[in-house]
Amino acid sequence: MQSPILKVKSSDIPALGFGTWPMKGKECADAVRTAIETGYRHIDTAQFYANEASVSEGIAAAGVARKDLFITTKLWRDSFVSDDAIGAVRESLQRLKTDYLDLLLIHWPFPEVSVKKMVKDLMEVQNAGLTKLIGVSNFTVAQVKEAMAESGGTIVCNQVEYHPYLSQGPVLKCVRENGLFLTSYSPTARGYVKDDPAIKKIAAKYDKTPVQVTLRWQIQQERVSTIPKASTTAHIKSNFDIFDFTLTDEDMRAIHALARPDGRMIDPDFAPKWDKAA
Ligand code: NAP
Repeated sequence: MQSPILKVKSSDIPALGFGTWPMKGKECADAVRTAIETGYRHIDTAQFYANEASVSEGIAAAGVARKDLFITTKLWRDSFVSDDAIGAVRESLQRLKTDYLDLLLIHWPFPEVSVKKMVKDLMEVQNAGLTKLIGVSNFTVAQVKEAMAESGGTIVCNQVEYHPYLSQGPVLKCVRENGLFLTSYSPTARGYVKDDPAIKKIAAKYDKTPVQVTLRWQIQQERVSTIPKASTTAHIKSNFDIFDFTLTDEDMRAIHALARPDGRMIDPDFAPKWDKAA
């Protein structure tokens, strides 16, 4: 079976992708190879992860054609401050051994650089033909709207932390209203969902694991893509085995109801003032 596809601006984005942070070296290359051999076609990396070369080793070992993969990377603060985003992306392309990205993201709304400047840099990269799509990560609703306005509507994605314990209601509403998609990072709350009694109860009904149910809950939502990371082969394979069952509306609601005010896990000191769940 293959992942469902999100259609955004005539691009096909596999809803279930593969996260690669914090893997590096052989562990990363082996995991990416196993993921692609399992059927994943959407791979998430970033310059900050310092693993793009290992990701490309895994891709080469799996032997799947470049055109069949959807590769995302992200730019860190220094690329914008040094005013050479195109040069930085060319370095990523060399490490990834490809001549284009599918999606390039601004990794965070870095406070030292304006949204306007970061978006302008991304558009230059896109106009130079180095990436098909551009987007943002860790942006608030107001920042997404600003990025949309600055880009003339070419921003397609906001990648944010999203799992059962963190409501992303305002961000989801914003991406849907503006024709974007949301990519969920830390989608299993870093594995924490595996012990959740409410999710375990739902999982038992389908003979699935709580992690599988959580990933299914994500891809069943409109305009949501998810990028679980796994280093162990059993996890990589099990996380891909989520296309043969469908959660009921009641199950979906029960998982949404697990969101709590202190559910956010990733909150560095340079993070923006997050949107409050409605
Ligand atoms: P995650 O995918 O929710 O959790 C990863 C953890 O869950 C690992 O410890 C993994 O263990 C474990 N796990 C995976 N499958 C499992 C299973 N079936 N059963 C039990 N445990 C399982 O969290 P994440 O790594 O923070 O996020 C995923 C990806 O999002 C990252 O890799 C990265 O690509 C991206 N990300 C982006 C940002 C951003 O700022 N844009 C921030 C954070 C993450 P094993 O490794 O042992 O298999």
